[in-house]
Amino acid sequence: MEDKSFNAFEMAQSQFDGVADILGLDEGSKELLRYNLREYHISIPVRMDDGSVKVFRGFRVQHNDARGPAKGGIRFHPMETIDTVRALAMWMTWKCAVVDIPLGGAKGGVICDPHNLSSREQELICRGWVRQLARDMGPLNDIPAPDVMTSSQHMLWMLDEFEMLNGEKAPGFITGKPVGMGGSLGRTEATGYGVIFTIREALKELNIPPGDTTASIQGFGNVAQYAIELYNQIWGKVVCVSCWDQQEQTSYSFKKMDGIDLKALQEITDRFGGIDKDKARGLGYEILPGDAWIEQEVDILIPAALENQVTRKNAGKISDKVKIIAEGANGPTTPEADKVIEERGIFLIPDLLANAGGVTCSYFEQVQSNMNYFWEKDEVLGKLDLKMTSAFTAASKLAKDKKLYMRDAAYVIAIGRVAQACRDRGWV
Ligand code: GLU
Repeated sequence: MEDKSFNAFEMAQSQFDGVADILGLDEGSKELLRYNLREYHISIPVRMDDGSVKVFRGFRVQHNDARGPAKGGIRFHPMETIDTVRALAMWMTWKCAVVDIPLGGAKGGVICDPHNLSSREQELICRGWVRQLARDMGPLNDIPAPDVMTSSQHMLWMLDEFEMLNGEKAPGFITGKPVGMGGSLGRTEATGYGVIFTIREALKELNIPPGDTTASIQGFGNVAQYAIELYNQIWGKVVCVSCWDQQEQTSYSFKKMDGIDLKALQEITDRFGGIDKDKARGLGYEILPGDAWIEQEVDILIPAALENQVTRKNAGKISDKVKIIAEGANGPTTPEADKVIEERGIFLIPDLLANAGGVTCSYFEQVQSNMNYFWEKDEVLGKLDLKMTSAFTAASKLAKDKKLYMRDAAYVIAIGRVAQACRDRGWV
């Protein structure tokens, strides 16, 4: 997060305002939807391993639940802010609506850096977060999930705390649980695979065989790694990835023109997606500055790290060869950079669509948890592909018919659905 003046919530609101005008929304709907319905600020005291007590600040924001229980992940990040969580909660509402699943939007966060916390300390943060919020959350009103630097283990600790407090099992309280403990097969892969399902459809529209394409990716966490796995399976070649270097507190890009080797890189990567530079050099990777991922002469760019990464400052560095940008992260592109991408006619697959695979699979996880009957992985991924493909097709058809930028087209569908639900309920 290089730019201190960047405010994700202002960005989310300005995106909303633009689309509200296209849709001709009434003042009441605008006023309701450009803010969050509810937000919670909490303090989590934790007895650290050294015996001291540290108090962690956390948030939960519920943006809208007109279409169903609020849904969204919880992030652990040292730079977390309430405005980022507000933006992410709003984006979750639109994301669930664009893939047409019966859920609203929420997001949570804790200001902490799991790199510097023991497993026990992280467990206490998870349990403390649930203790503070349990009375305002639950399977029928707000359901968390993993996000940046949180995993299925964190979800299980949270579920356990919730069930202990309530005195009964409640597998629908949280998604992204481990398989065998109420989790769904395919959930770990879902966000990254979903990104590639949408890229595959975009390539079809552009008449480009995937096997002829190359990609450069920002990030090497869960989303990026599974995106690479599926992209390789459809014969695409990733030539550059970037990641955060925890020791040096900066990022680096890793380049290999004949294609990165996913398995070999995973073996030299920590659990947060940090790649060991010396070992990578030994494997023949060129180590470049963090921003180099965006300058590569590739067909596809996939920002799959954090918000505010494709900006006014670096959008001009995007190569003329780039035909598609698929947003694996939430909010990676600022409105100024959007203008550059739109003017250059690059096919954008916006975050709410490109990375909706995670929450779509979370919805499948809830359905399976409620039935207590779990599907085979192929069935999960097949259903995921159907949902992602039909959402992509609807947005790209609208973009073509109404000559809209893809982000606006996806937003028109999503915001239109949520506004309709609010009207149907008599809220506005
Ligand atoms: N954190 C993921 C997202 O941003 C998944 C959310 C969920 O499964 O609820 O879409």
